[in-house]
Amino acid sequence: MRAMIKSNLKRHIGKWPARLLDQLLPPRCLSCGVGAQDNGRICSDCWKELTFLQGSACACCGYPFDFDHGVAGSLCGQCLSHPPAFDRARAAVRYDDGSRRMIISFKHGDRTDYGDFFSQLLVQASHGLGVAGAIVVPVPLHKKRLQKRRYNQAALIAGAFARKKALDHCPDLLIRRKHTPPQEGNHSHRRRNVAGAFRLNPKYGGDVKDRTIVLIDDVYTTGATVQACAQILKRAGAGAVHILTIARVCQR
Ligand SMILES: [Zn+2]
Ligand SMILES: [Zn+2]
Repeated sequence: MRAMIKSNLKRHIGKWPARLLDQLLPPRCLSCGVGAQDNGRICSDCWKELTFLQGSACACCGYPFDFDHGVAGSLCGQCLSHPPAFDRARAAVRYDDGSRRMIISFKHGDRTDYGDFFSQLLVQASHGLGVAGAIVVPVPLHKKRLQKRRYNQAALIAGAFARKKALDHCPDLLIRRKHTPPQEGNHSHRRRNVAGAFRLNPKYGGDVKDRTIVLIDDVYTTGATVQACAQILKRAGAGAVHILTIARVCQR
């Protein structure tokens, strides 16, 4: 609501200095609503609740290791036994109590004002991923769900991430043709659920050939959704498919 009031005010008074606007409506934390340093950001207390994934991790899926293996390029057991269709997956934070509340507000609570903040987390998580020249693609929603929710949270952060990194954004490269229930169940259950749920938009037929694709979603849960999308992109000739999410479930 505050964000809406503020953007309406900005539209009406146009050229008023930002500092004056901040005096009228001082910046508030997106999450808890107390004073924050900047607009569209969270306060230091809420920041401390986020667990950033910065330590040693699987070189492929980004699963955090309990200790540093000391070998660059180490893979987790799951990636060794079932190599994923994507090349690499990275997430900014652990999906835990600290991040869950914010992501659920963003996803289901009309809190689209989180978009810029989360896209900044994606920029941080993308360091070292090799995204130069990539096409940024969100995991699509089924059109019925899109009508109900009115926005695709993955497309919001994908668009903002692409702008920040000066990359191409193609929000309708993939089409969701099946309405799949929310992410639940074990890995094989999820995989069966999403099989055949996506297809490549025929209007982009040859456009992904030899290109790097950065596929964006809000949370990496079992990886089944992004796997299904990555398979389609690889079949269409993508040179590399990297996955970027705000958060990652870290229990197996
Ligand atoms: Zn806060
Ligand atoms: Zn792995």
